[in-house]
Amino acid sequence: MKKSITDIQVTGKKVLMRADFNVPMDEKRTITDDSRITAALPTIKYVIDNSGKLILMSHLGRPGGKVKTEFCLSPVADRLSTLLKINVRSMDDCVGEDVREAVARMREGDVVLLENLRFHREETKNDPGFAGELASLGDVFVEDAFGTCHRAHASTVGVTEHLPGVAGFLVQKEIEYFEKVTKHPEHPFSLILGGAKVADKIPVIENMLDKIDFLMIGGAMAYTFLKSRLKGVGASRVEEDMADIVQRIFEEASLKNVGIFLPRDHVIAREMKENAARRTVKEHIPDGWIGLDIGPETLKNYESVLKDSKSIVWNGPMGVFEMKPFAAGTRGLARYMSRLDATTVIGGGDTAAAVNQMGLGKKMSHISTGGGASLEYLEGKALPGIAALDDI
Ligand code: AMP
Repeated sequence: MKKSITDIQVTGKKVLMRADFNVPMDEKRTITDDSRITAALPTIKYVIDNSGKLILMSHLGRPGGKVKTEFCLSPVADRLSTLLKINVRSMDDCVGEDVREAVARMREGDVVLLENLRFHREETKNDPGFAGELASLGDVFVEDAFGTCHRAHASTVGVTEHLPGVAGFLVQKEIEYFEKVTKHPEHPFSLILGGAKVADKIPVIENMLDKIDFLMIGGAMAYTFLKSRLKGVGASRVEEDMADIVQRIFEEASLKNVGIFLPRDHVIAREMKENAARRTVKEHIPDGWIGLDIGPETLKNYESVLKDSKSIVWNGPMGVFEMKPFAAGTRGLARYMSRLDATTVIGGGDTAAAVNQMGLGKKMSHISTGGGASLEYLEGKALPGIAALDDI
């Protein structure tokens, strides 16, 4: 088990905390969704309330190792100041003399936010010298950015060579739920996968087949699975080179007694456009039409499987949920899951966005804050940013 922030003393300590403040902003650099900032507040407040000196660090966007004003973190410092009702000082860099001096002057309960880590190429390269400079700012390291835990960067792994590393509350909750569903899930256990890229989800299926009872597939990836079973999938997105792997999954699932459920009806359209001509069909999809959402019968079928499930993990939308005419499958599934008395874990990225948009976040057991990181956890991989933390 990994140590968490409550297992160490923070009073009077310089607490170097990796957060995920990679928030969306509009062209005026106004933050359009601050949920990543509010998600870090419990750990931030804990350090302040326990009289630690908090040094926050994050990346924002992909500046590619160069200083780019559009990726400066100052709007995040302003938002944090408003939310915390204290002045959060924003630095012009994340290393160097000015930062060292500012940190040396910090008093208990103070908070500073270092500038975008990715203004330095050394961050993503996990450069030991850069990691050492970052680490020299703190007495202890707190990891609260689950979304980057699958990357071995200077601010996630490098710093732990120099400092004791513990999980913040956000990462602690991620570990708790992903450990539960990957190591000791309650049964029946249903895995729901959707989205577009089949290749991303195959390693998840391969790792989870030993643990789950049911696998439900939606989104574009369903058509690669349906290709061999239907007379036609029309112009739906199919990854032909996945055919052999999909066949192997059908065989493995049957050996392991896992029920695979695929769409029985589809919302199809001539084009992937909001106002395109559309209809719902059962069975095969005519030429020239694209499957863009699961149909109502499929939703009912999936609901009937989920009804008695005790654990449910969902990653990937059931259709092109960004467009209203193709959002009913994803929205319906989210609504149904939110009412169940089961452990419900929502993978990050699009699925989390869909559930949060509907205001159902609090009704799920856990909504992951990491898209790639949550997939890697389900693949059974060790996440370097978590592996690097101290064990109890
Ligand atoms: P992924 O990153 O693989 O999880 O894919 C997410 C994307 O899949 C979303 O942007 C959805 O719009 C898209 N998607 C879901 N269902 C379909 C579909 N039937 N056809 C094309 N794209 C889809």
